[in-house]
Amino acid sequence: MKLDILAIGAHPDDVELGCSGTLISEIRKGKKAGIIDLTQGELGTRGTIETRYAEATASAKIMGLSVRENLKMRDGFFQNDEAHQMQLIRVLRKYQPDIVIGNILEDRHPDHGKGGWLIYDSCFLSGLRQVKTFDEEGKEQEKWRPRMLLHYIQDRFFEQDIILDISDVWEQRMEAIRAYKTQFFDPGSKEPQTYLSTPEFLDALASRARLLGKRIGVKYGEGFLSKKNIGLRSLDSLILHET
Ligand SMILES: [Zn+2]
Repeated sequence: MKLDILAIGAHPDDVELGCSGTLISEIRKGKKAGIIDLTQGELGTRGTIETRYAEATASAKIMGLSVRENLKMRDGFFQNDEAHQMQLIRVLRKYQPDIVIGNILEDRHPDHGKGGWLIYDSCFLSGLRQVKTFDEEGKEQEKWRPRMLLHYIQDRFFEQDIILDISDVWEQRMEAIRAYKTQFFDPGSKEPQTYLSTPEFLDALASRARLLGKRIGVKYGEGFLSKKNIGLRSLDSLILHET
């Protein structure tokens, strides 16, 4: 199955927090999108692997994803090495996405930067014919390089290269995030409080989206970084609000 957009996150919920607004917005426009979770988030303080899967599935439904796969790499300890790159290259060649959206290249959680570079390197290597991979039936895969790789912002703030207007899908985006019931603020939960589970965390998330939105003259925005220059087909794609 070919996808238009493949979003990748080190942990289930990384993609929701980083770029679910953009995914929902593109899916509404008829694009096919999927998510690859690199790990099962088994080091998370709250919830279990099982609750995470149930939450990731619920969130995928809210977003309207065509596919969601978990590569079961080791949370906290996976590496950007040949074995992990080959695992990811197989997935890139399977889904042949034109656009990949992945973790940021440096962040508070070391898995985010590590994941970001793993995605970056794998997207490049996947385009090389001499890197041989085989699908589930043992058939050799075609080389595939995504045309564009974007990185979503996570905990640390970075100046973005582009900001997308996600105002129209804001409610749906927050619904996808709240699907991770064990991870975020729940007044009834008896589990230990974490960095993510305070009410302030979700407030801060909304504040950032508003700040990014303000910069382009809309209510809510999501920001991305790219190592490559971003090309526009036409000036019609520009938002021309006063800022
Ligand atoms: Zn994470």
